[in-house]
Amino acid sequence: MTISLIDTHAHLDMKEFDNDRDEVIARALAAGVTKIITVGTDISSSRKVIQLAEKYPQIYAGVGIHPHDAGRVAQSYIPQLKELAKHPKVVAIGETGLDFYRNYSPKEAQFAVLREQLELASELNLPIIIHTRRAAHETIEIIGEWIKRHPIVAGPRGVIHCFSEDAPTAKIFLEFGFYISFTGAVTYPQSKVAIVAKTVPIDKIMVETDCPFLTPQKYRGKRNEPSNVVLTAERLADALGIPLEKFAAQTSENALRLFKL
Ligand SMILES: [Zn+2]
Repeated sequence: MTISLIDTHAHLDMKEFDNDRDEVIARALAAGVTKIITVGTDISSSRKVIQLAEKYPQIYAGVGIHPHDAGRVAQSYIPQLKELAKHPKVVAIGETGLDFYRNYSPKEAQFAVLREQLELASELNLPIIIHTRRAAHETIEIIGEWIKRHPIVAGPRGVIHCFSEDAPTAKIFLEFGFYISFTGAVTYPQSKVAIVAKTVPIDKIMVETDCPFLTPQKYRGKRNEPSNVVLTAERLADALGIPLEKFAAQTSENALRLFKL
């Protein structure tokens, strides 16, 4: 039986892929990765991911401002994102969120840019891709306020990408209507994230590479790429005690449902 997986979070626009992007995408397909959501981090990278989505049928795009870039957005960034989001292959707003680990942007800028992108996602009826690092409390607070402003939605709200928090935090995001996505970090020997994954209902789990970052243990130290999402899926299927084929089919179904692919 061949598996079919979706890499729900990649950064294929980044310069790390400039020399061999075609080969990277071919390797993903050969490994059973049938679709890739490639995610913008600022206006220029959001434009680039749309170009990639136009070039490759299996690529879809997210457009958004990463918390690292929140401090240097132009006044007009929301209308710009709104215009970009009209493209038929744009399936989400993001990535956005809060990052108090690196703190590349002032907190107040991160809060404002997250709130504004949440409102944009509501306006456009698109799911939101959330990055949260050392900022779970504040992320919960801002998303909680957003949900109070928009209590009724037809489908899921979005995804907490690269989930690295504990089980009680996962539970709060699940109750908010979010899916939980895991990276290759689950394969690291010291990682406890696979244990957290066991507390998440299987119809809410997705997998991603976040490439070129977070290379699974087997190739750690090298550049990450979408074909490696198979290693993350193997680790999680093992932790959950289910066959890889079943895990792949279920998580792909979840991604199709969330992003309406
Ligand atoms: Zn990312």
